[in-house]
Amino acid sequence: MIEAIVNSQKEFFKTGKTKTIAYRKQLLKQLQSELIKQEDFIVKALYDDFKKPEFESVITETAIVLQDLKRTLKHIDKWAKPKRIFPSLLNFPSSDFIYKEPYGTVLIIAPWNYPYQLALAPLIGAVAAGNTVVLKPSELTPNTSALLSKIIKHVFPPEFVTVIEGGVDTSTQLLNQVWDYIFFTGSVGVGKIVAKAAAPNLTPITLELGGKNPCIIDKSANLKLAAKRIVWGKFVNAGQTCIAPDYILIDQSIKNNFYNFLKEEISKAFTNKPKTSKDFARIINEKNFNRLTEMLVDQNCIIGGNHDITDYYISPSVIDQPSLDSKVMEDEIFGPILPVLAYDNINTIDTIINTYPKPLSLYVFSTNSAQAKQLIKQYSFGGGCINDTIIHFANHRLPFGGVGNSGIGAYHGKHTFNTFSHIKPVVKKGNWLDITLRYAPYKGKLKSL
Ligand code: NAD
Repeated sequence: MIEAIVNSQKEFFKTGKTKTIAYRKQLLKQLQSELIKQEDFIVKALYDDFKKPEFESVITETAIVLQDLKRTLKHIDKWAKPKRIFPSLLNFPSSDFIYKEPYGTVLIIAPWNYPYQLALAPLIGAVAAGNTVVLKPSELTPNTSALLSKIIKHVFPPEFVTVIEGGVDTSTQLLNQVWDYIFFTGSVGVGKIVAKAAAPNLTPITLELGGKNPCIIDKSANLKLAAKRIVWGKFVNAGQTCIAPDYILIDQSIKNNFYNFLKEEISKAFTNKPKTSKDFARIINEKNFNRLTEMLVDQNCIIGGNHDITDYYISPSVIDQPSLDSKVMEDEIFGPILPVLAYDNINTIDTIINTYPKPLSLYVFSTNSAQAKQLIKQYSFGGGCINDTIIHFANHRLPFGGVGNSGIGAYHGKHTFNTFSHIKPVVKKGNWLDITLRYAPYKGKLKSL
C-alpha cells in the first residue's frame, strides 16, 4: 500500500500539475478554509491528547499555522518566480537566473510535542514549492493525527498530499521508499536512522532534532524578568519543547535570589496547586512520565517534585545543583524539570556546556551587552535569545534549525519554501558576441591575461 501511494505521487508529479502555481494556491486556499473551520476540533484534539491548554494550542499551534499559510499565499508568486542575478563579467554577455524547482515526492515525519504545527508548517512549504507530500504524524497523539488525516483527505487528492498514520513500523516502511526529500522532526537517535535511510539514494534531508539547551544567567541580569521568561519558556507545553531551556547556569551570588523569583513566577503562572491549573499540560505517556520521574530521585528538589501517574502529571520542578553524572544531566530533559547549576566564575561554564553536543538553542540573561555577545559567539548552537527564551521561533524571517547533533538545515517562512526547492542556477548566454579567450588552443594566452 505504501509503495502504491508513493508511486502514484511520483506519477502525479511527472504530470507537471504541481508546477502550476495557480494549482498550488487553489489547494492551499482550500486548506486554509478547512483549518479555520476545524479550529475548535483541533484545540479539542490537542487537549484530548495531552491536556494541552487552549491558549497554548492557539498561540503555539493553530495561529502559527494560519499565519504561515496566509503569508505563504501572499508571497508564493514572488518566492517561486525565477530571480534575476547580477551576471559575472567572465560570462559576458549573459543574463543569469535562479530557478526554484520542486524536488518531487517528499516525506515529512512529525513528532508528538507540537503535533499539529510541526506537521503542517513543513507541509505548507512543501506544497507551496510544488512537491507532492506524504506526511507521517506521530502515533503518540492519535486524536490530532486522525484529525490531520481527515483534513488532508478532505482537501487534497492523495496523489498530491496524503497522511499515513502509524508508529515505528510504518515509519520504517516509509523510510525504505525512495524519496526526493525527507524532512524529519524528532529525536537525535531517530534522526540518525533517517540519515542512514537517506544515504543509499543520496536523498537530501532536513533534520530538526533536539539537545541540551543551556540558559546562562550572569550577575548583571534582570533576575525578576529572567525568572518570568524562563518559567514561560520552560513550562509551556509542560517542558515538552525542543527549544525549552534545559538547564540553568547561574552566578553563585544571585542563585538564592533567583530561586525566590522562580517560586513567585511559577505560582503566579500555575497557582500553588499546578495540578489543578488549566494552564499546565500533561506528560505525553507513561514511558516519558517514568523517564522524567526517575530524574527526580535523590535530587534536592527546591521547587515542586510532585507527580501523579494516573494523570501523567509532573509539577513544575527545580533541582538545585544536580551532579553532572546524574540522570537529569545525562540527556535532553524534555519535561517540566529544571536543573540549576551555580558557577563562581563564568569562564568555568565552558566545561559544562562542552560536555554536550551542540545544542538546538542557547539563552543568555545579561544586561552586559558585551558579555552576552561574547557568549553568543563563543558557543555553537542552532539559535537562541539574549534576555528571553524560545521566542526566536516566532519570527518567520529567522531560519529555524539545529547544528551538529541538533540538526541539519532550517525552515520557517520563506526559508521553508526554499528548503523544499532545489535552487537551480542558469546562465543564459548571449550569441551576439563570443570572446574566444577560453577556447583551445591555449598557446600564448596565459601571457595575455
Ligand atoms: P521521535 O524521534 O521518537 O519520533 C519522531 C517521529 O519519528 C515520530 O513520527 C515517530 O513515529 C517516528 N519514529 C520513532 N522511532 C522511529 C524509528 N525507530 N524509525 C523510524 N521512525 C521512528 O521523537 P518524539 O518523541 O516524537 O519527539 C521528541 C523529540 O523531538 C525531542 O528530542 C525533541 O527535541 C525533538 N523535537 C525537535 C524539534 C525541532 O524543531 N528541532 C521540534 C520538536 C521536537
